[in-house]
Amino acid sequence: MRIILLGAPGAGKGTQAEILSQHYCIPAVSTGNLIREAVRAQTPLGLRVQAVIERGELVSDETVIQILTERLTKPDCEGGFILDGFPRTVPQAQALELISDVDCVLSIEVSDERIIKRMGGRRSCPKCGATYHVDYKPSAGGENCQHCGEFLVVRNDDKPEVVLHRLETYHAQTEPLKVFYEKTGKLLCVEGQEEVKDTTALVLEALASL
Ligand code: AMP
Repeated sequence: MRIILLGAPGAGKGTQAEILSQHYCIPAVSTGNLIREAVRAQTPLGLRVQAVIERGELVSDETVIQILTERLTKPDCEGGFILDGFPRTVPQAQALELISDVDCVLSIEVSDERIIKRMGGRRSCPKCGATYHVDYKPSAGGENCQHCGEFLVVRNDDKPEVVLHRLETYHAQTEPLKVFYEKTGKLLCVEGQEEVKDTTALVLEALASL
């Protein structure tokens, strides 16, 4: 199964990607996580893109296509993958067509109003990168990371003013991908629900219809 998850930042792509990854035993590939890992490790790439992601803007197509291509050639992607956060522009989608086929593109639809409300509850671990939500996905460690014990923080790009900018970027650059994929007949849309499990049920139902 090769799945693309589309949706605004905060629509729940990452959470559903993790659940689908376990369900289908295939890796969830998040370009956002790969980029944040590079920033945490202060690699040359991480140093180059740190300011861009903190402003809520997109990393260049060339850079992100290179990161994704390297990741998809790893052996664990041979049996399929779930893409979370890639492609985000039409040139990225065109590049992906040259790298791999996909079976379906699933768009998780959530209104901007609900996204803004949800993003206020997002927390992340500055040490290991794990992500949580105070209401929908709380850490078993309370205000600390359940994996490594680090105190959880609000990521710079989850701050309200940056979220607004990320939503603008989503509507301008990523939403046109729905038209792009509708033409291929591979687009499925589900309404993101309040409860994670309810969204998962709709996602699995949509995928079962393939
Ligand atoms: P995410 O966690 O998917 O919201 O990604 C966090 C940030 O990483 C984004 O706001 C972008 O700055 C960058 N990023 C992740 N994926 C992409 C992509 N496909 N194209 C460009 N920038 C990306």
